[in-house]
Amino acid sequence: MRTKTLPKMRGLYTIICLVFLIAGFAKSQTRKIIDVHFHTRSAGDYGTTPPPNPASGRLPHASSNEEIYSSNLVLLKKYNIVKAICSGTIARNTDFITNDPVRFLSSLEFPDHQNNPLPDTLTFKKMAIEKKFIAFGELGLQYEGKTLADPEYAPYLAICEQLGIPVLLHTGEAAPNTPYMPCCPRFRINSGRPLHIEPVLIKYPKLKVMLMHMGFPFLEETKAVLNVYPQVSVDISVIDWAVPTQEFYDYLKALIVAGFEKRIMYGSDQMIWEDAIELSVKKVEKAPFLSKKQKDDIFYNNAAKFFGIK
Ligand SMILES: [Zn+2]
Repeated sequence: MRTKTLPKMRGLYTIICLVFLIAGFAKSQTRKIIDVHFHTRSAGDYGTTPPPNPASGRLPHASSNEEIYSSNLVLLKKYNIVKAICSGTIARNTDFITNDPVRFLSSLEFPDHQNNPLPDTLTFKKMAIEKKFIAFGELGLQYEGKTLADPEYAPYLAICEQLGIPVLLHTGEAAPNTPYMPCCPRFRINSGRPLHIEPVLIKYPKLKVMLMHMGFPFLEETKAVLNVYPQVSVDISVIDWAVPTQEFYDYLKALIVAGFEKRIMYGSDQMIWEDAIELSVKKVEKAPFLSKKQKDDIFYNNAAKFFGIK
């Protein structure tokens, strides 16, 4: 009897394993993702011959606004990125939102690639009330050698605090040779230190702030800010594809070990390189130290809570 039932049981066991494997695979494919750092670039923003992706070496193949939209959309759909916080000009964000109003949400970038000035504060407030943008950023103030504590931004931060508009601040560093580039002679590493936001958080205690690029490589300052100020979260953008994998994993793991797993959000910061979406999603999926729940939180739950996405 035993010799007859054993092969049957083995067969059953194999079928059960296959079912679980298929279910697990389907689950990973249907994991919902929010990209909190998605740029709505225009053709020509990086010159007529854009450089290759510094991580993959691949050239961006989109050469028109329409191609930029469609090449990004293909990857957003492929990885089930159901929401993307668009960091760009209102005009370019509107292009994306008009095409797919469910997926895309507008955030007001400054400075932007068109060198638009900030709107005056009355206009800014009106635009915020009318939901022309749901967040203020990416604020690349570091590229101007400035910080969020610079007095010229104070009236805008007061409005953001009053209306519950999150502020999305570029922190950390930038590409090699940035201060020598024509765009950015005022760029300084020091301006990207996370601690520069402390006086802002003291003055506007209800202001929600997202430190883009998780303050990398200023780990100690980032941990201190996250610990003392619960209204601050981070995104993992660009570090999740442009730096060596182990470097990214070590930094992310340090924030997880420190207890901040509910305040870390996925972002691509794909700029003009749409393959950054694929590279970054895969790195998070493969992170050996993250549980399924932690991946769900980083990919979706934490951003849904931070941005109030239903
Ligand atoms: Zn940035």
